[in-house]
Amino acid sequence: MSIIEVAGLGKRYGKRWALQDCSLSIPAGHVVALVGPNGAGKTTLLHCAIGLVEPSTGHATVLDGLVAGSPQALDRVAFVAQDAPLYKYLSVTHMIELTRNLNRSFDTKLIRQRLDGLGIGLDQKVGKLSGGQQAQLALALALARHPELLVLDEPLARLDPLARYEFMGVVMTAVAEEGLSVVLSSHVVSELERVANYLIVLNSGRVQIASEIDELMQSHWLLTGPADEVDEMSRVFPVVETYRGDRQARLLVRSFDTSNIGPNWEATAVTLEELILAYLRDPESSSISEAMGDGHPSIRGVSA
Ligand code: ATP
Repeated sequence: MSIIEVAGLGKRYGKRWALQDCSLSIPAGHVVALVGPNGAGKTTLLHCAIGLVEPSTGHATVLDGLVAGSPQALDRVAFVAQDAPLYKYLSVTHMIELTRNLNRSFDTKLIRQRLDGLGIGLDQKVGKLSGGQQAQLALALALARHPELLVLDEPLARLDPLARYEFMGVVMTAVAEEGLSVVLSSHVVSELERVANYLIVLNSGRVQIASEIDELMQSHWLLTGPADEVDEMSRVFPVVETYRGDRQARLLVRSFDTSNIGPNWEATAVTLEELILAYLRDPESSSISEAMGDGHPSIRGVSA
């Protein structure tokens, strides 16, 4: 089953394309990290997927073919927007009642238990809760609907490291207990390796990477060797990025097999953060195989 499927998806605001020609099929049962620089189109993609934005081209479906934003889709998808929008002047109890009245199914007992476990009092004013507690409340309201797909837009941005850890702890517990799929957009690249198992990188409105993280880690390597052998190496491996010093060079290459590196070269594992940043620095690079064409992408050079 695919949790989000988009084909030829584009969104234009005036003359500018926020998203262009996006095609994706995200399999169920994953925690998907959606990464990209400011203005890359992450929020626009998520809004198209939940039906908040009408695409200019293409279409989006969720949970195996439900039209994005249709009543059937809305019953099974929960969305927490950027900055956890809540009514600040309501008490937690009233916020729960309001959300229950706006949804066809809502588990009041579950949310009360969850908030109790987090030490969030029901009679507290929402606006008086800390940023971390407000994020937890927004998450608990979404989870109380027992969604099959939880979509979180930048949930970690305003949280300190401890609050991030606790927030993702609740998400991961819900994934383990209820088997829901999660898509979260984030700039906090360093934390994604711990929580996500599928990665989408958007850059300038286009999909650069869409893959299982395990597969990405197995198919990207850092090769270190003599700078004057870089051209030779680049003919053998698709190069994502080149760091060239006077004598030594490092190449980030895309290949499952590095057994044929030259005798002067060493292959080491790449971190997810290094990999994401290398792709982000070069919007023209893509890990998507169709985009690789003849398998010999141009070299992007960065002097060390
Ligand atoms: P960020 O990480 O900063 O939140 P993002 O990757 O989520 O960025 P979007 O918010 O999707 O990016 O915006 C993509 C582009 O579309 C940006 O150039 C933005 O200015 C533009 N855009 C988004 N919404 C609108 C809108 N309602 N009207 C006009 N332009 C918009």
